[in-house]
Amino acid sequence: MTAEFRFKIVMLGDGAVGKTAMTTRFTQNFFDADYKRTIGADFAVKRMDIPDIDSHVTLQCWDLAGQPRFEFVRQGFYRGARGGLLLYDVTRRRTFLNIDRWKEEAFVNIGQEIPIVLVANKIDLVDSRVVNKKDGKAYAKENGFIYVESSALTGENVEEAYVNLCKRMIKKSKADSSK
Ligand code: GDP
Ligand code: MG
Repeated sequence: MTAEFRFKIVMLGDGAVGKTAMTTRFTQNFFDADYKRTIGADFAVKRMDIPDIDSHVTLQCWDLAGQPRFEFVRQGFYRGARGGLLLYDVTRRRTFLNIDRWKEEAFVNIGQEIPIVLVANKIDLVDSRVVNKKDGKAYAKENGFIYVESSALTGENVEEAYVNLCKRMIKKSKADSSK
């Protein structure tokens, strides 16, 4: 019988790394080149099939505002989150250096470590790329995160990022319930 899961996930990372673009690409298969700053938070729901493990997942994707002044708003949104996509922009090194802070903020507010997919976004911007694959992969490995390189613009690996997160969350959910 097909297993049903329902998870809340959070989009993490600095402003303008592509959290909203990725959410929109994933839930509506659409890309908007204009940057509209997310105010507070938005959320979108998407149902997905993961045939190789015979599962259906309903994902509630919370897209958080990355700007520091929204910090007080963000805390409530972490509650109950079961997984996260932590994004950085491969054309801005500072967004890569800040991933530690996002990880800390998420784990502290959620009260436990949750599965995380580290997403190196905007790989379509080949000429302005400054954070290479080796550094991204090494960071992910050190922290036990899955590593995915994506482009919300072309759609490359967007679905993969979410599918990988779902598999990790399902695994954890099964392990937790058999404790
Ligand atoms: P957020 O602040 O993290 O939600 O970032 P947004 O999703 O609003 O994206 C910030 C800007 O980067 C927007 O102008 C997007 O169109 C652009 N953007 C997002 N993802 C990509 C991508 O993969 N490639 C390119 N070239 N631009 C992107
Ligand atoms: Mg946004």
